[in-house]
Amino acid sequence: PTRIFSGIKPTGHLTLGNYLGALRQWVEVDQHKADALFSVVDLHALTVEHEPARVQRLSRQTATLLLAAGLDPTQCTVFVQSHVDEHTRLSYLLECTASDGEMRRMIQYKEKSARERATGGSVRLSLLTYPVLMAADILAYGADEVPVGDDQAQHVELTRDLAVRFNQRYGQTFTVPKAVLPQLAARVMDLQDPTAKMGKSHAETSGIVYLLDEPDAVRRKIMRAVTDSGSDVVHDRETRPGIANLLEILAACNGGNPAELAGGYSSYGALKRDTADAVLEVLRPLRERHAELCGDPAYVDAVLRDGAERARRIARPTVDAAYRAIGLLPAY
Ligand code: ATP
Ligand code: MG
Repeated sequence: PTRIFSGIKPTGHLTLGNYLGALRQWVEVDQHKADALFSVVDLHALTVEHEPARVQRLSRQTATLLLAAGLDPTQCTVFVQSHVDEHTRLSYLLECTASDGEMRRMIQYKEKSARERATGGSVRLSLLTYPVLMAADILAYGADEVPVGDDQAQHVELTRDLAVRFNQRYGQTFTVPKAVLPQLAARVMDLQDPTAKMGKSHAETSGIVYLLDEPDAVRRKIMRAVTDSGSDVVHDRETRPGIANLLEILAACNGGNPAELAGGYSSYGALKRDTADAVLEVLRPLRERHAELCGDPAYVDAVLRDGAERARRIARPTVDAAYRAIGLLPAY
C-alpha cells in the first residue's frame, strides 16, 4: 500500500494555512487511502529561538488539534518526532550525503535566518540542517507521498535528491517520495500582508487566523483583511493578491473555483462576509472536538504512546539497513 508521511512543527498555534494546506487532506483523504503517519515534529521547533515550556505545551496542543481535526488513530499513526530515535539516527547519515551548498540554497533557510538575524538572534546550525532532518523524517518510513503546502515543496525535492544519491552510492535503501500539494489553498497568505505566507511562528498576528481563535476574532481578522486598490472582485494573484487570497480561502472552504466565485461578487465587503462565514463553519466542529479532547488528556497520551511504538517498528529496519549500507559495523 501507499505509505504517507507528513509533519507539523509546534512553533505556534495552528493556522488556517496549516489546516487548508496540509491537515485537511490528511484527514479527508490520506488516512483513508494509505498507511499514513503524521507527526508533531518537535525537534524542528528547536531550530529557532524557543521557550522550552512553550514548545512542550504546543506539542500537546498540536497533537490534540490533529485528533480534533479528525485524524483517527485506528486509521493512521499519530506521534511525536522526538519519541522515535530513528529520526536523528538517520539524519546524521543524510548529513553525510548532503552538501553544505545545497542547504544554503533552501528558500526557507534564507528567509528564516534573515528573520533571526534581524531580531538580533544568532542562527542555529540546526536551522541550516533542518531539511536533512526533514528528509530523515520522510525516508525513515519509506514514504511514497508527502502531503504538504507549497512552501515545503523545495524540501521534499531535496529529500528526493538525497534518497536517489544515497541509493546510487550505497545500494537501494530508500523509497523516493513525492510531494502532494492541495489543489486549492496550497499557500494561504497573511491577511495583513498578502504577499507573505500565513505562518504560525510569525510575531505579527493580526493577519493570521488561528484554528482556536474565538469566532469573533476570526470574523474581525477576515473583515479587516488588507484588500487591493480597485473595487471589482477578480481573481488575480499578481495584481490583486489580497482578494485572490480571500477567494482561494472561500473556494477551499465551500468548494467551487476562485475565478468563478469572483463573478458572484460586486463588493469586497460581501466577499469578506461570506469568507468569514465559510471559515467559521469549517472551524466550528474542530473547536468543539478540541474542547472535548482537552477534557481527556489520558486519551491523547495513549494515542501518542501507541503511535510512537508503531512508528518505531516501521522506521527501525530501514534505518538499520541504511547504517549497514553506508559502511557502519553492525552492533554486536
Ligand atoms: P512556521 O512559521 O514555524 O514555519 P508554519 O505555519 O509554516 O510554521 P509548518 O509546521 O512549517 O507550519 O508546516 C506545517 C504544514 O503546513 C506544512 O505542510 C506546510 O507546507 C503547511 N503550511 C504552512 N503554512 C501554510 C500556508 N500559509 N498555506 C498552506 N499551507 C501551509
Ligand atoms: Mg513553515
